[in-house]
Amino acid sequence: MRCVTDDFPASTVLGYPRVGPDRELKHALEGYWDGRIDRAGLDRVGRALRADTWHRLAQLGLDGLPSNTFSEYDQVLDTAVLVDAVPDRFRERSEPYFAMARGADGVAPLRMTKWFDTNYHYLVPEIGPRTRFRLVADKPLGEVREARELGYETRPVVVGPVTFLRLAQAAPGSPAGFAPIDRLDDLLDVYVRLLTALADEGVAWVQLDEPVLVTDGGSPAVRHAYRRLAGHGRRPRLLVASYFGDIADALPALAVTAVEAVALDLTHGVPANVDLLRGKTVVGGVVSGREVWRTDADSARALLAGANATSVSTSCSLLHVPYSLRGEDVLPGRLAFAEEKVAEVVELARLGPKPGPVPVAAAVGGSPGVHELRVELLNRREGGVPTERNGRAERSPYEVRALAQRDLGLPVLPVTTIGSFPQTGALRAARREVAAGARGEAEYEELVRAEIRRVVEVQERLGIDVLVHGEPERNDMVQYFAEHLDGFAVTRNGWVQSYGSRCTRPPILHGDVRRSAPITVRWARYAQSLTDKPVKGMLTGPVTIVAWSFVRDDLPLRDVTMQVAEAVRAEVQDLEAAGIRVIQVDEPALRELLPLRREEQAGYLEWAVAAYRWATGGAGDATQIHTHLCYSNADEVLAAIDALDADVTSIESARSGTAVQGFGRGLGPGVYDIHSPRIPDVAEVTARLRNALRHVPAERLWVNPDCGLKTRTYEQVEAALANVVAAARKVRSVL
Ligand code: GLN
Ligand code: ZN
Repeated sequence: MRCVTDDFPASTVLGYPRVGPDRELKHALEGYWDGRIDRAGLDRVGRALRADTWHRLAQLGLDGLPSNTFSEYDQVLDTAVLVDAVPDRFRERSEPYFAMARGADGVAPLRMTKWFDTNYHYLVPEIGPRTRFRLVADKPLGEVREARELGYETRPVVVGPVTFLRLAQAAPGSPAGFAPIDRLDDLLDVYVRLLTALADEGVAWVQLDEPVLVTDGGSPAVRHAYRRLAGHGRRPRLLVASYFGDIADALPALAVTAVEAVALDLTHGVPANVDLLRGKTVVGGVVSGREVWRTDADSARALLAGANATSVSTSCSLLHVPYSLRGEDVLPGRLAFAEEKVAEVVELARLGPKPGPVPVAAAVGGSPGVHELRVELLNRREGGVPTERNGRAERSPYEVRALAQRDLGLPVLPVTTIGSFPQTGALRAARREVAAGARGEAEYEELVRAEIRRVVEVQERLGIDVLVHGEPERNDMVQYFAEHLDGFAVTRNGWVQSYGSRCTRPPILHGDVRRSAPITVRWARYAQSLTDKPVKGMLTGPVTIVAWSFVRDDLPLRDVTMQVAEAVRAEVQDLEAAGIRVIQVDEPALRELLPLRREEQAGYLEWAVAAYRWATGGAGDATQIHTHLCYSNADEVLAAIDALDADVTSIESARSGTAVQGFGRGLGPGVYDIHSPRIPDVAEVTARLRNALRHVPAERLWVNPDCGLKTRTYEQVEAALANVVAAARKVRSVL
């Protein structure tokens, strides 16, 4: 048996970043979309990035090089194209691929959603009973050949059939009860053909990614799929890669198939039933593809030994971490980005497995309860015993607060916005100049103030009721706070792909989080000094701050989030003390951290809600707390959103159509979609408000766009908000 499987390379990675070390692909894509470069130019950038990646991986000493890990937009979209699952509405387009990704005049793109619990987003394939699958293998074959020309034999990586169908949605018009997975056998026909084509090309190994194996369910489909694929005669050897969790439940299903190798994400521990894989090659994912910390060699070797792994790999694709530490001086000696992780894989393969104790993952929750955590936080406060005001953990019930907030003097159907106003190029350039030392702080401050004056003036002119300062001082709603809190580090160039050409630069939360001084207070105070209307203080919530950062791995996420909550709480109290009467604490990422496994979800939601309530609970009853959520399929977390107990919740519903009902407090369902440049007209907003009034009583309904306005122009914003105010007035007048 061993002789068949022995030849899987000793070291490999499951995937690699692809936007380019300096985001070359991003710039090329955006240039191409804007017509600044042509197709050949875009292709050249892609080819160079692929070549650089293979050269680099080989240079670092990696044995097994993957291919087909490059993508011009998204690997799930690539897979849809591979099996020709292109919905009809895109077929006539000149470029169906980018039309599916981004839409094309009048044609809506595929829906985009989060790739498991990462911050990467994929495009959701639409599969119906009549989708005609057909093999279009140009891309994987092309990459194999391209690498071969450079002297490298590679292992193509393809999203597996079960994961592909589980992530797909039923095509519009599918009969009730239809699920994409019903088409498994038809899809397998195409995968069989793909395997044949790869074998004909002389490919030795292919990697099929099945992260869906770690979530609940899927096993019967997995057994069926891999019995069929592995039973097919003419094919490369199969590596089935599971990641983002423990595969234990699905492992027996894979074990009974003839696949030659299985990649396990050992950063979640060794599956108890790993012995079932005897006779197969176990590829041990011990170097995390999700975290940025250096790998502890002893525990990694112990994990490899515990799993009988004969090959070393990353836990998942390195897509989720930045390219390299070159040019960075953050946290010396503690970090590993993609390149450094490859070096770790190579080194661990050289050292080999070694039995030993395996540390328990800190990320796993458990006792102590949320309540003890709060008490502990209180005790740890500087100055010993907390004062009466900041010691209060909870606010009065909503009814009491609502009374106390009456003197805000708001009309019914108050109009507000979500926080940011257009970020001008001048401001962004000024920030870069300050960072480079080319512009003085004082000058920059004056620019920010001027922008705040403009934002306040616009809102007063338009007749908005609760104003914002516009967030001109913020590069990003998480990074800004990270830069002002102790315990965070920020990188120069640590970009990670979020979707398509979009990248984020997550801060690194590496130590105890503390707020050494107020962060937002002076801006809020300045904005409030310009107007008699209430100006909202604007903060990012603790869950979102940790969700969009790399976090430390030596403390449970819950404890880390509570520390951040403590910092936000202090900021809330300082805003209040500075005379800010309305404070918004955004949690757009609440849904994002929801664990993949259902049985862990309630525990997460409990501490997430507790962290939010801790962050906001120090505010007095007369201070109105708002929250905002977006990007989310909110349905699964509606009860938790309710439990946040904010006085007013604004939620993205212009796009998702979320049924927002039953909230016992203020609610602002977005009345138009800010993600598009389209200006909503008065009639449309009026209709939305009338519709909302069927579910929410007038005294609790708020009027707002569905998200921040930062990506729009002033022209668009003023036109849209003027119509929103007009619609609110119209509806008010007939109440
Ligand atoms: N207050 C933030 C803004 O308006 C909220 C952004 C978000 O929801 N992602 O930009
Ligand atoms: Zn939003």
